[in-house]
Amino acid sequence: MEQTLSIIKPDGVQKNIIGDIIRRFESEGLVIKALTMHQLTKGEAQGFYAVHKDRPFFESLTDFMSSGPVVIMVLQGIDAIHLNRKIMGATNFKEAEEGTIRSDHASSIEHNIVHGSDAPETAAWEIAYFFSNLDIMA
Ligand code: ATP
Ligand code: MG
Repeated sequence: MEQTLSIIKPDGVQKNIIGDIIRRFESEGLVIKALTMHQLTKGEAQGFYAVHKDRPFFESLTDFMSSGPVVIMVLQGIDAIHLNRKIMGATNFKEAEEGTIRSDHASSIEHNIVHGSDAPETAAWEIAYFFSNLDIMA
């Protein structure tokens, strides 16, 4: 069993497709172990995406991520990190496989509906960024 952090970004919440996204995760066997809705401050978005702080899109990305409420979840399952990213599709929606969340819903490389951790170390760090152990169901 593995855990990963998933975020439904402000564009996903704005499009009113929280249910569609969660259904895709659950139907592939991922189980929600924690869930909250929150509007990130600019500082919280900068902290979360600190790994990208030198990238040209950092300013725009952190503005976007703090522009409206997001849904933040811990998903658990076998190979959860990879499975979640498979359900999401490629970062650039134009390259995302048909039937993935980003292929179906994203409107740009930045406005791409969902975030998912990319490795066990980043998943652990990202989960701890938003949740205490007490908030994560056994
Ligand atoms: P995420 O980390 O959000 O799950 P990812 O791992 O597929 O997505 P990253 O390379 O980590 O992609 O980029 C983080 C986010 O930054 C992307 O999801 C996207 O919103 C934005 N982004 C990435 N590349 C670009 C770009 N070239 N121009 C604008 N925004 C970008
Ligand atoms: Mg990433």
